[in-house]
Amino acid sequence: MTSQPRAQRRRLVVGNWKMNGTRDANSRLLQEILSNWKPLEKSDAAICPPFVYLEQVAQALSASQLYWGGQSVNPNDSGAYTGEISAKMLIDQGCRYVIVGHNERRRLQSESDDYVARQFVAAQAEGLIPILCVGESSEQREQGKALETIGRQLQAVLDIAGLQAFATAIVAYEPIWAVGTGITATPEEAAQVHAFIRKQFASLGHELVILYGGSVKPENAAELFAKEDIDGALLGGASLQAKDFIAICQSAEVAGK
Ligand code: PEP
Repeated sequence: MTSQPRAQRRRLVVGNWKMNGTRDANSRLLQEILSNWKPLEKSDAAICPPFVYLEQVAQALSASQLYWGGQSVNPNDSGAYTGEISAKMLIDQGCRYVIVGHNERRRLQSESDDYVARQFVAAQAEGLIPILCVGESSEQREQGKALETIGRQLQAVLDIAGLQAFATAIVAYEPIWAVGTGITATPEEAAQVHAFIRKQFASLGHELVILYGGSVKPENAAELFAKEDIDGALLGGASLQAKDFIAICQSAEVAGK
């Protein structure tokens, strides 16, 4: 089976707050988002705050159209994993999504492809939707190894989760050189990788949502979302500005029509 027309795929914009925020700052940001929110029909939106603020975000967003999620998850159920959070705990906080394999965790917490695959499986087992981040470094891109790297990252998850698991998952292409750098992949560069990812899952015959992440801003969102295989965005910096976050959600909505 081949992919269905793009119009049938829901768009998604996810804000990754990373390690930012205080109760007061979050309260102001959430209030600004909610009071300026424009309803979405063809798209979804979510916020992934630091773990300690999940309850605050859940309370603020519970009566809204927005979802929330975790920035990471430990693959084990419970036990002696100091400082870690399980998938069950995220479900307890009403999370819909969890980011796994963000490049900052792969690099700074030495999370391997295999570990990320276990996080993916543990998240799904509890009913969370994993947002699996993949992406190449600038060296890998320069050496012509971008697709090989991404293929390897996807394969590690396919090996233990199986193809069917992607029927209820999100993939986010985040070139490492574009995340938090202000340098965005060109729509053509991103589209080439998205088409490659889509092809890996074509036999599923379902509509896998593939996000792009890496310095997305209101100024470049529309041209990225205009590409056939780019279904939305994973945002870092732009998700900390209510106006930018809402504008990017609206660009996704328009592209979905
Ligand atoms: C991210 O943290 O996943 C990200 C894409 O960050 P930024 O938008 O700031 O590049």
